[in-house]
Amino acid sequence: MRVMAFGAHPDDVEIFASGTLAKYRAQGHEIGIAIMTRGDVGSPTLTRDEIAEVREKEARNAAAMVDAEFYWLGHDDEFLYDTPEVRRQVIDVIRQFQPDIVLCPDKDKDYHPDHVRTGQIVWDTHVMATVPLIPTGHPVCKKIHEIWYYDTAAGVGFEPGHYVDISAHWETKVKMVECHDSQNAWCKHMYGIPVTYFAETQSRFRGYQSGCTFAEAFRKPPMFPHTAAGDGLLPVALG
Ligand SMILES: [Zn+2]
Repeated sequence: MRVMAFGAHPDDVEIFASGTLAKYRAQGHEIGIAIMTRGDVGSPTLTRDEIAEVREKEARNAAAMVDAEFYWLGHDDEFLYDTPEVRRQVIDVIRQFQPDIVLCPDKDKDYHPDHVRTGQIVWDTHVMATVPLIPTGHPVCKKIHEIWYYDTAAGVGFEPGHYVDISAHWETKVKMVECHDSQNAWCKHMYGIPVTYFAETQSRFRGYQSGCTFAEAFRKPPMFPHTAAGDGLLPVALG
């Protein structure tokens, strides 16, 4: 299978879904990671262009750990909007990767505007990607991919419908999160804790909820065709 994750910011995918991506990769599946914004407000000291350059490198390094095809969409952090241009860009990225499953932020449960927009745009384009009369320069998708929403920051407002046991891939997740060294400084500045603390606390809590050491949580929106890629095809159930 081909599994793609969209992040609003360069570190979201690593915090919320990288253990699952590592598990898919270990099972021989192909991985894609797309980042909507360039994370250019995530520094207390650097200029916007400086921190954006740092964060792109960090995200590329993390993506390389699961051999992911990497897509950097380059929008301004905190100013992501649902426009015709952004939709076409997302459709084109999806067509380039041709995913069976897409992981993205929860448009209904997340709180951050960039996360909400990312989830909304991914949701709104999932059928469009198959439609020939919406040309983008790459061949249309052969089928409608399955969408799973990943967790929110600290799990606030998110009721999981599915847990993925990532215990065996915890070291990979830690390394992927640690690629975002610049965000340790930012998170300490903003919240008084390093970014790795977010990932570990949440993964332990989701593991505690689901009976394993570390887990990631997901929720699947109702969609048609209901079994395009197959409910439960996510080959990463507990155990
Ligand atoms: Zn984010």
